[in-house]
Amino acid sequence: MRSESRELRLSEGGGSQLERKILDIVAASGEAGILQRDIWHLLNIDSRRGSRIVKRLERMGFLTREVVVHKGRRMYLLKPTPKLLLVPKLPSVLDEIPCFYCPHLLSCSGEASRVLNCEKLEKWLYGG
Ligand code: SF4
Repeated sequence: MRSESRELRLSEGGGSQLERKILDIVAASGEAGILQRDIWHLLNIDSRRGSRIVKRLERMGFLTREVVVHKGRRMYLLKPTPKLLLVPKLPSVLDEIPCFYCPHLLSCSGEASRVLNCEKLEKWLYGG
């Protein structure tokens, strides 16, 4: 049986925190959803970068994109899927800890030597 936390596999690198922020906003919007462009304003990101991330999250099954007409203009309305709403919400302070969103977390859990020699973790702990 897969654990729920393993369901949320986001991208590696700098994109994962932004993905998580977008998912938090979409999840909080509930059934009403949120206009995609409002997310760009909330997170102060450009639409090109944001659109790439949103399309990826849609392919992963976390949200839906629906074309709507708002004030005479066509735009996307984003809504959370049941898959997104089932993902447990972790405190945002954990976003800074590299292990929480690392694809190697499961393989590292039984290997102290990997953890002790991890550059990402060392950088987070000691800065640099
Ligand atoms: S120790 Fe390093 S490789 Fe292992 S889960 Fe944490 S960040 Fe990932």
